Amino acid sequence: MRRPFVAGNWKMNLDLPAARDLAAGLVAGVPSDCAADVAICPPSIYLFPMAKAVDGSPVRLGSQNCWHEASGAFTGELSPDMVKETGCTYVILGHSERRNTIGPTDDSGRIWGESNQMIAAKARAVIDRGLTAIVCVGELLEQRDANQTEAVLSEQLSGSLATLSAADCDRLVIAYEPVWAIGTGRVATPEQAQAAHAHIRSRLAAQFDPARADEIRIQYGGSVKPGNAAELMACPDVDGALVGGASLKADDFLKIIEAAAASAA
Ligand code: PEP
Repeated sequence: MRRPFVAGNWKMNLDLPAARDLAAGLVAGVPSDCAADVAICPPSIYLFPMAKAVDGSPVRLGSQNCWHEASGAFTGELSPDMVKETGCTYVILGHSERRNTIGPTDDSGRIWGESNQMIAAKARAVIDRGLTAIVCVGELLEQRDANQTEAVLSEQLSGSLATLSAADCDRLVIAYEPVWAIGTGRVATPEQAQAAHAHIRSRLAAQFDPARADEIRIQYGGSVKPGNAAELMACPDVDGALVGGASLKADDFLKIIEAAAASAA
């Protein structure tokens, strides 16, 4: 039985007082016997104050990213050890905004352009430090329209997890986030989500082994709201959610957590 897991990706939002208020609202609202795991992933500059804010509660902390090297001349980056020192349990890796966000940077147009290879190096480093990697995968709208969803997911999984073995699976979470559903209000249908999650689990079974694949939690992400969380989490292979916009309001995020906890029953 996989325990549902809901993580809030705050991205580059909130000032510090608002972050403290939000954390306090979650600490007050998540019961100590919650049947779902819960994490918040604030901007990295807020990790230490948020660690203090959620201390003693069931709410865990995650980083939105990290670099794979242990130390060195990597201006602006954080090592896995630095992330761990803040009290983090989780690290989001390969979010589509880091893979694909378009901006005026180079010929590719992609700002960070993170590759599967880079994400695989980060996943290895994060897991080696005892952190849990939340590895994001998901297709663009044109890829879905061209019937390439499964091929894209297979390639992202084999590339982004290439450094891992079956022994690493208990420190691995996958987030399926169709890029066309992120921040758009256009959520995948439960059927679309279940089909993608089942495909992901079959690829994990082929890459590791079926028993380990059965234990890996696969979150859905992309416009999850209180009104659609329950039907998504009722899908057999949907094990929780990675939530952006709706994780910025305590009431909404708590309702999503409740739906996840109810799906465990
Ligand atoms: C995300 O950024 O991971 C995400 C799922 O965002 P939203 O919930 O706002 O679509």
